[in-house]
Amino acid sequence: MIDRLLLELLACPACDNRPPLRLEGEGLVCDQCHRIYPVRDGIPHVVVSEAILPGSPAPAEEK
Ligand SMILES: [Zn+2]
Repeated sequence: MIDRLLLELLACPACDNRPPLRLEGEGLVCDQCHRIYPVRDGIPHVVVSEAILPGSPAPAEEK
């Protein structure tokens, strides 16, 4: 579970106005660009390169 205070600090790095992210299932969703940022072991990965865009396959594992 993610701390609510931490969640309030998280903003979408892909959007210029840094909208807050919404916790949904296993990820953090940006309502503006609809990217999903993965949460692994309780740690949110709010990085554009790790974001999943709806309709796209999950990003490939890092090489
Ligand atoms: Zn966004």
